[in-house]
Amino acid sequence: MIRYALHCKACGGEFEAWFASSSAYEQQKEKRLVRCTACNSSRVDKQIMAPAVKTAKAKEAAPDPEKMFAAFAEKARQHVAENFDYVGGNFAEEARSMFYGEQDERPIWGETTEEEREALKEEGVPASPLPAPFTPPVPKVKSKGRLN
Ligand SMILES: [Zn+2]
Repeated sequence: MIRYALHCKACGGEFEAWFASSSAYEQQKEKRLVRCTACNSSRVDKQIMAPAVKTAKAKEAAPDPEKMFAAFAEKARQHVAENFDYVGGNFAEEARSMFYGEQDERPIWGETTEEEREALKEEGVPASPLPAPFTPPVPKVKSKGRLN
């Protein structure tokens, strides 16, 4: 005995039926004996046997790039907020003084003007723009480690 999941092209119904063998199914189908349990149409066909449960699960688990990015950005923002010292407009000064060994290095973030950014670049001070999605809200509390 063989069980087939069948699909009705007339009403869209799905049902299962047992056959003695696959050739028995073919014969019965040819004689139009295989009929839809819902509408009695003989326009039935074997369903492509896909692992339905797995497919549904895979769909559910399929990564949504936007969501993934949002989650990643959230983590990045948290990381910056927790580990980086916000120095506001002093960023260029702070970065420069660390670069020249005037103070211990620590992760900082803040703002620069266009000129400051260019100057840092020319001097070879490592600094990179923080993409907007990774930028945490500017802390209300001022930096704990300001220059002087
Ligand atoms: Zn039907």
